[in-house]
Amino acid sequence: MTTETRTTITWDYAPAPEATDHIRLKDRYGLFIGGEFVPSERYVPTINPATEEPIAEIAWAGPQDVQRAIEAAREAQPRWAALPERERAKYLFRIARLIQERSRELAVVETMDGGKPLRESRDVDIPLAAAHFFHYAGWVDKLVYGVNAREVRPLGVVGQIVPWNFPLLMAAWKLAPALACGNTAILKPAETTPLTALLLGEIIQEAELPPGTVSILPGDGALGAQLVRAPGIDKIAFTGSTGVGRDIQAALAGQPTRLTLELGGKSANIVFEDAALDQAVEGIVNGIFFNQGHVCCAGSRLLIQESVQHEVINKLWRRMSLLRVGDPLDKNTDVGAINSAEQLQRIEALVQAGEEEGAHRQSVACELPARGYWFAPTLFTDVSPVHRIAKEEIFGPVVSVLSFRTQAEAIEKANNSPYGLAAGIWTDKGAKAFEVASALKAGVVWQNTYNHFDPTAAFGGYKESGFGREGGPAGLRPYLEIVR
Ligand code: NAD
Repeated sequence: MTTETRTTITWDYAPAPEATDHIRLKDRYGLFIGGEFVPSERYVPTINPATEEPIAEIAWAGPQDVQRAIEAAREAQPRWAALPERERAKYLFRIARLIQERSRELAVVETMDGGKPLRESRDVDIPLAAAHFFHYAGWVDKLVYGVNAREVRPLGVVGQIVPWNFPLLMAAWKLAPALACGNTAILKPAETTPLTALLLGEIIQEAELPPGTVSILPGDGALGAQLVRAPGIDKIAFTGSTGVGRDIQAALAGQPTRLTLELGGKSANIVFEDAALDQAVEGIVNGIFFNQGHVCCAGSRLLIQESVQHEVINKLWRRMSLLRVGDPLDKNTDVGAINSAEQLQRIEALVQAGEEEGAHRQSVACELPARGYWFAPTLFTDVSPVHRIAKEEIFGPVVSVLSFRTQAEAIEKANNSPYGLAAGIWTDKGAKAFEVASALKAGVVWQNTYNHFDPTAAFGGYKESGFGREGGPAGLRPYLEIVR
């Protein structure tokens, strides 16, 4: 007989709020066009989703601003492309270093504007944004080696539209390769998270990029639609929902404008019985609760081998109950605020559908702040593959568990999705991991880890998750034309 004797210590974390007095936010931000911040006819406040308080007034661009930005970008592009490669690279290095210099401020602003925990903006978003500029700065004088030694030229002016879940990081994923290849760019941040993109505008000014090389136009979906359809744009790079991606593809059908789409997902995280289960549980938590589940490649479909299903679910539920939900600026917070009231409604509607369709819901009992938008980490079991929560992207802190018996069944269930963005495989057998990975229709497959991002690695989807790759040398190709 074994008896387990443990001392029980009941304790809690002391509050550890990050200071906000070091950030330099203006009351109002203009549009960034031609290297200057310029006024607009319309200003819209950007809100802190954890408090519902306005942070700053943001200029929203109209059709005439799109035109001005395109003219500035067209004028700047030949000179930007003609710069000696090492000179162009220096600008990207400068941007990377300035992001690092202002990293503490950028992390706080990212957290205030988007609701994500400071721990994540400080340790993931901002360092990775700088890393993308460093990485592509290194490619500027080696472009031909990135595309199989072919002769290449830039496409011209690119329009780039990003979502709200990783605002600065998505801007870096877009701008760094485009600029490295000699294109000029017009970036449209998402309506709820424009602030760090505008601070990036300040950094671009400080790095003394030639005026017009980058313009930043905040606004809503209507502005995005105008940018897509505006004459004078050679390529659109879009990251966002599959529905909008479809609309953009239809709008550009028959046009010479190039297009890459990074869209939604419903990624499978597959746990085999031979996996290191405690490690897998940490990976499951990171896979779905990182950034409140507002992650395109979130491991939102958890596939567990039947023999270990109960053990994994018990461990997962115990681990979930330790997640700290609340003030995103507190350094101990694991799960922050939902990005907007609209997103909260979408999550609530899908969770309600899950209950109505017969799945079993468990949500962590946690005290949620009185103001702001919050959703407690949630686990669904007894899920059938036909339930909406097993098929549709929830984009929130909600995981749906399905089970499987054999490797073949795991592969079939994982691929049973219109999406194909990412997947995770947890096993201690290397050969099994490779075999399963090669059978999965997913752009990124992680083995014994999840949500691991690296600027040197390509990211992108299959099927309704889009086409084109960002990151690494593969990320250069969508911004270059092969001459011969
Ligand atoms: P969204 O499609 O609503 O908006 C994305 C961006 O497109 C915003 O800037 C928005 O203003 C703009 N937009 C909206 N309507 C438009 C239109 N008709 N034409 C042009 N632009 C338009 O998506 P969202 O809710 O902001 O973001 C969440 C979605 O993004 C999720 O589906 C997520 O999976 C996806 N996403 C994908 C990746 C990836 O790399 N695959 C990364 C992050 C997010």
